[in-house]
Amino acid sequence: MTTRISIPVKFISNDRKGTLDLAYPQRCSRCNGPLAPQFETHPLKYEAGLIRNRQFGKKFRSSIQVTLRIPLCDLCYLANFTENPDSCDQDKTELGVIAHWRSIGIIIGSAFALAAFILLMKIIPLPTENIWTRYLWLMIIGAALLIFALTFGMTELKNRQIRKYLSDHHYNFNLHRADAFVKMQLEDPQPEDEAIVLSLENDQWAEECAQSHEWRFEKIEPKIKELEAK
Ligand SMILES: [Zn+2]
Repeated sequence: MTTRISIPVKFISNDRKGTLDLAYPQRCSRCNGPLAPQFETHPLKYEAGLIRNRQFGKKFRSSIQVTLRIPLCDLCYLANFTENPDSCDQDKTELGVIAHWRSIGIIIGSAFALAAFILLMKIIPLPTENIWTRYLWLMIIGAALLIFALTFGMTELKNRQIRKYLSDHHYNFNLHRADAFVKMQLEDPQPEDEAIVLSLENDQWAEECAQSHEWRFEKIEPKIKELEAK
């Protein structure tokens, strides 16, 4: 079973850029473990109030960036890294540092690949007499591939270590990240409008969390959830 929680606009509208920590109940939101010092992070952007006939620039009157965080135990945090390392890149943890360097590796590799594409398509013409400038794009694409191989190779190595550690601690690999998404609306937002929809498979935790904040929640049968995903 999955529980879907509706978080209203008034809980995120105080800040244009803020963090919403769902710190209650104070246990793991995946496995119900009693200690939950870590967080699962969901960066979200809520937009409402469409400015019609606007081609460029700001398209919505309300735009709020919110980082939704829900508590995790140490083991679920490790599993969370293997599932979605990008979501850990702002965390002040050892895995957060690895995730951060992974993001930098992807950005640099992509920049090299883009530079190689620009040279290959001759968007910036270089002198062709010199063999080095003729094949410069090939060297840059080689550097990009090397950066990607190192970045993803190191992450995969870390993931293997984590999966082995979790397996040794009899971790339940059926537990997964929550689904969180924002509702976009054309009209200006009202305080009670639904802004964030959070779906968790830990019904007990989700129910207690929603009740403590007086948020609407509903239980969804797995079949309905699958149909919605299609
Ligand atoms: Zn846990």
